[in-house]
Amino acid sequence: MATAEERLMEWLRDAHAMEEQGEQMLDALLSRIEHYPQLKAKVAEHLEETKNQTRLVRQCIERRGGSPSLIKDLTGKVMAVAQGISGVFVGDEIVKGAMASYTFEHMEVAAYKILIAGAATCGDAETQRICTDILAEEERMAAWLGEHLPSVASQYLAREEAPGVEAKH
Ligand code: MG
Ligand code: FE
Repeated sequence: MATAEERLMEWLRDAHAMEEQGEQMLDALLSRIEHYPQLKAKVAEHLEETKNQTRLVRQCIERRGGSPSLIKDLTGKVMAVAQGISGVFVGDEIVKGAMASYTFEHMEVAAYKILIAGAATCGDAETQRICTDILAEEERMAAWLGEHLPSVASQYLAREEAPGVEAKH
């Protein structure tokens, strides 16, 4: 059985690994998008937010006397690369990439809601505050993707039907 403090540390390390994975995924997506400038700009913006989130979560871990999990970080990166590669071989790469991002943002939203409750239980006001700030960024990105998924899909379909126009990314 773990104490609440131990469990909070584990959740923070999970979140750190998740952010590292998010960085890899967004970076891969960004480098592949060519014909969807609005999505590309948003992905670039959230990549910068994500890098900052990784740093903030690491600070929470270190302030509580721990260190990030190298194994979890590495596993997450390998998974992100595998996911990126699998996307390259599908014709509707951009649609699958946007869908995966939408899913990922909602996983992050869930993770930070849990972390906020965990930090509150442990009386860690600083971790609670930081995770609340990060949650707002994840919710904004999730909402943006939710609003723009239909236009990515319709732009993709229009490009696919146009002769001599590349649609996939
Ligand atoms: Mg994030
Ligand atoms: Fe995110």
